Amino acid sequence: MDELPPDYAFSQPPPDHADHLRDDPVALRALWPDAGVLLLDEHGNVAASADGQRLAPLRGAELAAQMPDTALFLALHEGRGWFALTTATSVAEAGTRIDLRAAALALPAFEAGLHAQARALAHWQASHRHCPSCGHALRPIRAGHAARCDHCQCEHYPRTDTAIIVAVSDGSRLLLGRQATWPARRYSVIAGFLEPGERLEDAVAREVAEEAGVRVRSSRYVGSQPWPFPANLMVGFEADGEPDEPRFGGELEDARWFTAAQIHAGVAAGELLLSPRLSISSWLIRRWLAGQGAPLAR
Ligand SMILES: [Zn+2]
Repeated sequence: MDELPPDYAFSQPPPDHADHLRDDPVALRALWPDAGVLLLDEHGNVAASADGQRLAPLRGAELAAQMPDTALFLALHEGRGWFALTTATSVAEAGTRIDLRAAALALPAFEAGLHAQARALAHWQASHRHCPSCGHALRPIRAGHAARCDHCQCEHYPRTDTAIIVAVSDGSRLLLGRQATWPARRYSVIAGFLEPGERLEDAVAREVAEEAGVRVRSSRYVGSQPWPFPANLMVGFEADGEPDEPRFGGELEDARWFTAAQIHAGVAAGELLLSPRLSISSWLIRRWLAGQGAPLAR
């Protein structure tokens, strides 16, 4: 099978997260004056250049002489520290803002990745202000990467919700479905959340059976995508399925098998709308088409 390299958003290796600096406030304070600081508003949007093509980080020294306690340390890149601050904890002007979906399309991969990391961390902090065990206030530690409850002494860490997403083929056809809430004519591969106590490959088989009534024989991991909207990880698979007639009616309002020729014809006629290219679902579909010797033109 022809391999289509990952080209979806957040598929680049991240910058050095420099974990060892998270417990070294002296080193972080030394990085602060020249650091790049991403300012996030309450929706996770970040300050960007007026044309929206680059981040508009502030220098640490422009924001505060000393590193604020609320600063989230993101990464060390080419000797420069990168931090995030939320506008809730900063007096800086808002300026032009970009949301993460737009950032994923417009910004250089390094900058989009920083934005994704900052958004995910900031969302976790904002939504985990109190200890789930005892209800007392949490105190951020490790430069924002963990939180401690001083009442019951437990520590909490950013959570990621895992979902599987899978291109199921019966050998010559690809299984696509659509949810009623999607734009008209939009079809995509099957996806769903991992359940507690479940292996990823079992989640693949269960979701495909539940949503489309198709039996999966085997599945293989092919790639993953951080999806911080707000805190997901999409774990991508390809799977071999039995050529069962799709049955749906729960999450999906339609599910069908498509040949490569039917996908090409549907896209050309405007009758089939595939997922946006920033998502791993688009890559899974295009990867399958490439494997069929029928790659989709850009
Ligand atoms: Zn507690």
